[in-house]
Amino acid sequence: MTPELVRCIKCKRVSFAVSRAEALGHISSFNAYYEALDEAGKSSFGGPSSLDNYLCLCGGADFVPAAEGDVPDGSTISGVLYEPHPIPPA
Ligand SMILES: [Zn+2]
Repeated sequence: MTPELVRCIKCKRVSFAVSRAEALGHISSFNAYYEALDEAGKSSFGGPSSLDNYLCLCGGADFVPAAEGDVPDGSTISGVLYEPHPIPPA
């Protein structure tokens, strides 16, 4: 499945959309891996993962769907938390 691309409202950087459920799944599997590392292994990462890692690089958290051609060829894009239909917190 092709990831849905979204564009940051603040800086217009394009990222791929990750649902909250996907993000939480990635975070918990990364953190399980991270916690099992020794100190040397941990030091090669910035720390445990959290939803803060799913913001735009500019810190923006508001996105709109990206148009075809918004992504320059060869650019590296990261994942951001984006819910097309936000679900109210439980
Ligand atoms: Zn941004």
